[in-house]
Amino acid sequence: MALYSVILFPGKGDGQTVTMASASADSSVFLDRAARARALMAEQRIDVLLLSVGHDLPYLTGYLAMPLERLTMLVLPLDGEATLVVPRLEAPRVVERPEVFTLRPWGETEDPVAIVAGLAGAGTRSPGTVAVGDQTWARFVVDLLPLLPTTKFRRAVEVVGPLRVLKDEAEVAALTAAAQAADRVAAELQGGAIPLVGRTEAQVSADLSARLLAEGHDKVNFAIVAAGENAASPHHHPGTRMIEKDEIVLCDFGGTMAGYCSDITRCVHLGPPPAEIAEAYAVLHEAQQAGVAAGTVGVPCEEVDRAARRVIADAGYGDYFVHRTGHGIGMEEHEDPYIVEGNTAALADGHAYSVEPGIYVPERWGMRLEDIVVARADGPRPLNHADHALVVLDV
Ligand code: ZN
Ligand code: ZN
Ligand code: ZN
Repeated sequence: MALYSVILFPGKGDGQTVTMASASADSSVFLDRAARARALMAEQRIDVLLLSVGHDLPYLTGYLAMPLERLTMLVLPLDGEATLVVPRLEAPRVVERPEVFTLRPWGETEDPVAIVAGLAGAGTRSPGTVAVGDQTWARFVVDLLPLLPTTKFRRAVEVVGPLRVLKDEAEVAALTAAAQAADRVAAELQGGAIPLVGRTEAQVSADLSARLLAEGHDKVNFAIVAAGENAASPHHHPGTRMIEKDEIVLCDFGGTMAGYCSDITRCVHLGPPPAEIAEAYAVLHEAQQAGVAAGTVGVPCEEVDRAARRVIADAGYGDYFVHRTGHGIGMEEHEDPYIVEGNTAALADGHAYSVEPGIYVPERWGMRLEDIVVARADGPRPLNHADHALVVLDV
């Protein structure tokens, strides 16, 4: 469970270019993805795809644009070559792939929207339908509309979404490596290597973050640490509360490693848990296992939610499980497919998602257990293997 959906970009001024599995990948990866995008464009009668900030652009080019006021835009026509329009000062960050796209840097006195419109066909044969990336700044779209007056606009998610949701082998490998790194940090927590009692939630959060980086992550996206009654708030923001003996501590953390995200939740109890917490945790553990086991190819996503929720509801804690069971994960912490009642889309080979049921008793305590799982033809493949028990730490 992430605090927020994150748009990743390299830190300003650190001179670091985007590190992602696909940035070092062979161009054939991107040619293949572009071919599949064009096939969907043809099916949906879309003439041009326009992608700006967000993760559709790096998916197709390996380049992650900073969310700047200057326009970056990939113009991918159904027929003809793709062009990446970038601010001239950003051009050195682009790993050039001439076989995938032509680079078109624009100078400070040029009008980048006019350049994009021209590449999309304005003036010659105005494109019938253009699909624009969901996260494109409105100011650029608003300026583009009058330059393509007869064009119908649609959302690019209709083209790129169905591709991104099916992880290829390189993506599954990247998610696995990120999960293994998160597992190592979880094992440090469960092994007592991270001091808890007498420190604040914020200090432990910083500790978990540093360890994620030490284990190979490029970036930490969130590190929730919630002690005792604070654990009853699923997205608690770690603060100055001191962690004490005889309470539960919920840790939910994740980051980005080689372009792909990790996300794991484990709880520890400082000293032997009271029967109430031990019993609830046994239910939570069973619910999480049921959710993981339900993830066979072909079943609707909502069935995974139901499988986990049923166990919790049958044990009488139904009112205390207040969120969906999971979310898809990939380049972004939260993406399709969502594991929620009402999502009737069938799980497919290559879907990656979290299974993270929780039980939250307001003002008293809370608990959650989360793994990332990949749906495979031969059954669900959990990527996280850190101890699933409520580990009791001697204090
Ligand atoms: Zn999480
Ligand atoms: Zn999650
Ligand atoms: Zn979340």
